[in-house]
Amino acid sequence: MNSPAGNLPPGAAPGDDAAAANPLLDPSEPFAYDAVRPEHITPAVERLLADCRAAVAAVVEAREPATWSNVVEPLEAACERLSHAWGAVSHLNAVVDTPQLRAEFNANLPRITAFWTALSQNVALYGRYRALAGGPDFAAWSPARRRVVDNELRDFRLGGAELDAAAKERMASIRERQAQLSTRFAENVLDATNAFALHVAPRDEAILAGIPDDVRAMYREAAAANGKDGSQVSLHLPSYMPLMQYAHDRGLREKLYHAYAIRASELGPTSWDNSAVMVELLQLRDEQARLLGYPNYAELSLVPKMATSSAEVLRFLRDLGARARPHAQRDIAELRGFAAAELGIADLQPWDIAYASEKLRQSRYAYSEQEVKSYFPATRVLDGLFRVIEALFGVRFAATAAPTWHPDVRHYRVATRDRDATVGHFYLDLFARDHKRGGAWMDVGRIRRRVGAGIETPVTLVTCNFSPPVGGRDAFLTHNEVLTLFHEFGHGLHHLLTQVDESQVAGIRGVEWDAVELPSQFLENFAWEWDVLQLLGRRPDDAAPLPRALYDRMRAARNFQSGMQMVRQLEFALFDMLAHSLPDEQRRSAADLVALAARVRDEVAVVFPPAYHRGAHGFSHIFAGGYAAGYYSYKWAEVLSADCYAAFEEGNAVLDATRGGRFRAEILEVGGSRPAIDSFVAFRGRPPQIDALLRHSGMTT
Ligand SMILES: [Zn+2]
Repeated sequence: MNSPAGNLPPGAAPGDDAAAANPLLDPSEPFAYDAVRPEHITPAVERLLADCRAAVAAVVEAREPATWSNVVEPLEAACERLSHAWGAVSHLNAVVDTPQLRAEFNANLPRITAFWTALSQNVALYGRYRALAGGPDFAAWSPARRRVVDNELRDFRLGGAELDAAAKERMASIRERQAQLSTRFAENVLDATNAFALHVAPRDEAILAGIPDDVRAMYREAAAANGKDGSQVSLHLPSYMPLMQYAHDRGLREKLYHAYAIRASELGPTSWDNSAVMVELLQLRDEQARLLGYPNYAELSLVPKMATSSAEVLRFLRDLGARARPHAQRDIAELRGFAAAELGIADLQPWDIAYASEKLRQSRYAYSEQEVKSYFPATRVLDGLFRVIEALFGVRFAATAAPTWHPDVRHYRVATRDRDATVGHFYLDLFARDHKRGGAWMDVGRIRRRVGAGIETPVTLVTCNFSPPVGGRDAFLTHNEVLTLFHEFGHGLHHLLTQVDESQVAGIRGVEWDAVELPSQFLENFAWEWDVLQLLGRRPDDAAPLPRALYDRMRAARNFQSGMQMVRQLEFALFDMLAHSLPDEQRRSAADLVALAARVRDEVAVVFPPAYHRGAHGFSHIFAGGYAAGYYSYKWAEVLSADCYAAFEEGNAVLDATRGGRFRAEILEVGGSRPAIDSFVAFRGRPPQIDALLRHSGMTT
């Protein structure tokens, strides 16, 4: 819905020419993604920043006693407009990267960062919030409003509001530099990934033997798009992974593995080397922590999280590691034996792991990813997913026309099943393409909030990088991609189904980082159920449903190498937590970090890459995403999500509307308006237990 006229923010006055000409100044849905031009960015940012500063000035200069409506509401109105516009710019920068857009993004990023930093250090504003918290009726406020204020007070403190002037200034420059470095890190990874292309001339295509036809077709389309004959392989995952899984040619696999492993490191072109970037980032994070009185960045990072200390997190990870490693050792020993006996590979190397694993999986469970994939055309999977969501949570997705940033993108109106009331809107950008950042993620388009008498409904953006349709046919998803889709929809629903009116704790806002993956990992479980896969899986050519025998083999294979997968995640999580908490002298250089990665592997891993491997240089989660000293949260939240899902397993059917309704009410709708542990206990009736995760992972013996 549009903002009611009486509540238009300062940046969008009626009849305002600037607003009319600049789509970034109009947050109404559907947002004009197709109309945003690089030249809109700077004027919009200037205008919205000016509005935000004016709102802040009005709040701190007011003489009346602080109230919700004269402090929180006007700030929220102005800041949400800025967040919305900048969110759109960041999103476009990630999914339709052009040199002009990137330049404008980078030119404006420091001003945005500087504004948020200044806001978080504004002593007068801090005073207004303290006055709110100390007010006579604060205790009678709703828990959501009290939580907004409590979170603000915490964030003011963590933002440096209590620091002296010199320290404040230093904090501001640290944060500005951190934002630049993180952007640079992601750009280096993307550029280094884009720079590699293996062109295979038609006469040499025998080297691609073993790779499935649809992947080969994709390679040929990639070459044709560059005006070449033959095939072209890139380091983007949909191109890279199938080669590693299927190519018989061991030398080819090693070559690609090497190219992937050294991306953005000192072993490639200097211009994309992340060595100095990550070291400086770690140093700045530490300095930031010490300025605020914490011994290191890990402890600072954990303040707003569910876990209480790095020691608690390390204990959790090492406990899981001790349980998982024997399973991982069994997995790798079995793979070695199989590779030696069946594949003639006596010395299993890292570039053989995916290949040998796929062969072992086929030999043991007699099915391939490719066979499964033929039952999962993207359109049907989506329809099935919508039916699952409708059955569990009582909301419907209806495709609608709206301007988007690319013809592949779909737009949906989401409404309640019983009354057809609009809940929000949803954008879905499914397929990989050039100049789109890799991976899968959910972005907030617009947050739910009360505006006057009405509600501004939430807008969610889900991005994936699945293999695009080839030759005019529907695209096909691997079962892993189906899981990814469910995962991102879990995040999307958390944002979309919130019933909280206070934008700072609505949806995923205000949810502790280490609990944020609960709804996403929870929803993944459904994509393993027979009833659900019947809705999703049907071969388009002959309308054959996913056969039961194939499903049984998939289930049996579900925990194939689950020990190896678990220790791999623990390896990343331990590296992250130690990189942010070890004494300085153990992480002064990129070489120190490479050495740390090796030590962590000695502790927990069962696969040991060659000395040239530079995983840290491409570890965007912790250097360019929000997961610094937070990667453990995937496993942490998995304990919560597995335990919640176990409640559905305890019933007669997993698509249970009653349990779904309770999950919606106690977890999804309340969002960040109360601590995650309270939401968990409200749904489950007791504190979390680790048993369901171990059982789901086949680690009960
Ligand atoms: Zn996630």
